[in-house]
Amino acid sequence: MRSRCIISILIFVSVYTGIGCRVFNEPEPAVDLLLITIDTLRQDHLGCYGFPMPVTPEIDSLSKRHRLYSRCMSSATYTNPAHASLLTGRYPSHHGVRSNFKRIRDEAILIQEIFRTHGYQTAAFISGAPLKAGICGLNRGFSHYDDTLTQTQKKLSPCPLESASDGDRNLQNKLVLPEYEFNIRDGESTLRAVTDWLKTVDQDTPIFLWVHFYDPHGPYAPDKEIDRCFYIPDSPCDDNLKIPDTVLIPPYQKVDGVTDIDWYHAMYCGEIKYVDRCTGTLMRTLTGCRIHPLVSVITADHGEDFGEHDLYFDHGSNVYEPSLAIPLLFCGKNAEWTVGISSELVHIIDIFPSVISTMGFENMPVDGVDFLHPGPGVGNNNRFLYAETKPQFPNQRSKRVFCVRTEDYKYIYRDDPNESELYRMDGFENEHVNCIRSHFEIAETLRGACSEWYRHIGKDGEAGSIENIDSKVHEGLKALGYSN
Ligand SMILES: [Zn+2]
Repeated sequence: MRSRCIISILIFVSVYTGIGCRVFNEPEPAVDLLLITIDTLRQDHLGCYGFPMPVTPEIDSLSKRHRLYSRCMSSATYTNPAHASLLTGRYPSHHGVRSNFKRIRDEAILIQEIFRTHGYQTAAFISGAPLKAGICGLNRGFSHYDDTLTQTQKKLSPCPLESASDGDRNLQNKLVLPEYEFNIRDGESTLRAVTDWLKTVDQDTPIFLWVHFYDPHGPYAPDKEIDRCFYIPDSPCDDNLKIPDTVLIPPYQKVDGVTDIDWYHAMYCGEIKYVDRCTGTLMRTLTGCRIHPLVSVITADHGEDFGEHDLYFDHGSNVYEPSLAIPLLFCGKNAEWTVGISSELVHIIDIFPSVISTMGFENMPVDGVDFLHPGPGVGNNNRFLYAETKPQFPNQRSKRVFCVRTEDYKYIYRDDPNESELYRMDGFENEHVNCIRSHFEIAETLRGACSEWYRHIGKDGEAGSIENIDSKVHEGLKALGYSN
């Protein structure tokens, strides 16, 4: 409690003495802030990032009004650690959320607290159980935190094989999604809640609005009219795309009788198309009813694996690019912001200081850097960026996996040095060529950096456990694969 009082005083002093803060001294037109996070959205599945199928027409269109960061990584491949990093600008070891069952530390400053102190109406609408206020604590600083997850079961997917051959049609009788209790809210329901809230909001007061969509997270079950769009039965390549018998598929994803990776992938693409439509509607709704200029950020917490590294239809057990790379579209306020594509290597922890910077607020000490004002740390080859995760499967011996990323390399650190990996980073495909033996000196340097970081975490990284999660919520999370 004492630390929170000190933080409040610091923010108050910063704002009302005008130290480095031009909002009070030099009044500017009010600006609204919209933050959209799309859970489990792979960076390479957006058209504006080069995806060949028409999955994201709305976001592709929005990308023309945003700056697209082509190399953005998350801090973790789980929902809560990544979102906590986004909202604090800190690594999980600093904000304390190192799994989906940890609460944010009391002393961590959340970006919405800063906006609220600057007179903003702050609201969040979340769509997945891990981000419920009682679990993550990320509701602090929001005057309205809507985590009403009324849907206890994901809508079941109708069979996508109506136009298929007789053999495939026989299969449709077997397509049954397992019935788990899910605490979720689909994108359209979340949109309705946002729209209702916007009707109550005072136009004279700027808003900080965070909307979290959860639809691409498994189980993949897109709307009926969407889910046939991306599946081509009887593909000649199918023999190469069967799920190997030896791999584990998350129970919430497994559909009896379906072994075609293309089918799961098509359903995932359908979910992205659905959430893309919601994103476009949200943007039009907001710009249609608000009079203020808008700063907007569209990003994700993590991606999803489709077998690239023996992980199927899941995330969280590794730190490879399919799960770690995230999209980032940023529309700022001031002259330093421009549209186009940036190839700078940036991190989810950089969003906090960049948003604060474009608003003209006084920045706080954070782990990230302001990518709108490149200086030491951004735009050069010296930056070391970290991420971590905690593998779930019993056949993975390391308790935690870390990685350090530089401009050209990615080093993956495991408990056993013999399991460590080094990759040249020019694209996803290069994570299949472990060059640790041929680039020994680089590997040693990055291992040293990772080892130092690991030691730091060892004394500082565990905090904020939740001891009394409601048992029903706990079971729902477990059903969605949140076992940590
Ligand atoms: Zn997530």
